[in-house]
Amino acid sequence: MQLVDSHCHLDFDDFRDRIPAVLANMAAAGVSHALCISVTLTDFPRVLALAERYPNLYATVGVHPDYPDEREVRPEDLIRLADHPKIVAIGETGLDYYRLSGDLEWQRQRFRAHIRAARATGKPLVIHTRAAPEDTLRIMREEGAGEAGGVMHCFTETLEVARAAVELGFFVSFSGIVTFRNAAALREVAKALPLDRILVETDSPYLAPVPHRGKVNEPAFVRHVAETIAELRGLSLEALAEATTANFFRLFKLSKSKQLAEI
Ligand SMILES: [Zn+2]
Ligand SMILES: [Zn+2]
Repeated sequence: MQLVDSHCHLDFDDFRDRIPAVLANMAAAGVSHALCISVTLTDFPRVLALAERYPNLYATVGVHPDYPDEREVRPEDLIRLADHPKIVAIGETGLDYYRLSGDLEWQRQRFRAHIRAARATGKPLVIHTRAAPEDTLRIMREEGAGEAGGVMHCFTETLEVARAAVELGFFVSFSGIVTFRNAAALREVAKALPLDRILVETDSPYLAPVPHRGKVNEPAFVRHVAETIAELRGLSLEALAEATTANFFRLFKLSKSKQLAEI
């Protein structure tokens, strides 16, 4: 069985000096690859260093919408930084009207810059959207995000929003939230979407799934996310793992030979 973690933050301090153990736990849990997500250009070198050092880690480049004080990013900066074989996507980017309030025009401009960079590089987008479904989908349409494709990560919106993303050519990724007792509505979304559009992730170090809730999350725990979705859909863990892993490699354009060489 082969699982992948499509979204984690292994450069965060929670993992300082723990990367070898995190990788060993991944291997023991059948998690072959993980995508390390950039949240600021300041920390990007640490994210890239992980992907350069470890064959089964990949990276993205982007500035997260919850960092108002980061210097503004231009599409040309992202395009230049994305020009690397281990950088497989642009993000994470998007809109977050839950954590921040006030005039968030800067978030929307930042989001547009990322979509332009994704289109220019041909690399897919990793989109974070929270409490801003209409504006997220509107900007995706206005900027032609479907041309680059990508994933709506750590999805918590409605089935209607998920279907709109799928119609735009996007994948939808589920985190440990699907294992939480109060997430019945989200489980319905995970059950209803086409199997060829679903990814699984941890968003480590946040959101550890049941039965690790409250602990520091890590990529090995993506197995619990996959188990929950498999059960919901009446599939074996192996079948769910096979589908979501194939989706991951297809979205991030990682060839079969490359995957095997790097395990
Ligand atoms: Zn996020
Ligand atoms: Zn994240």
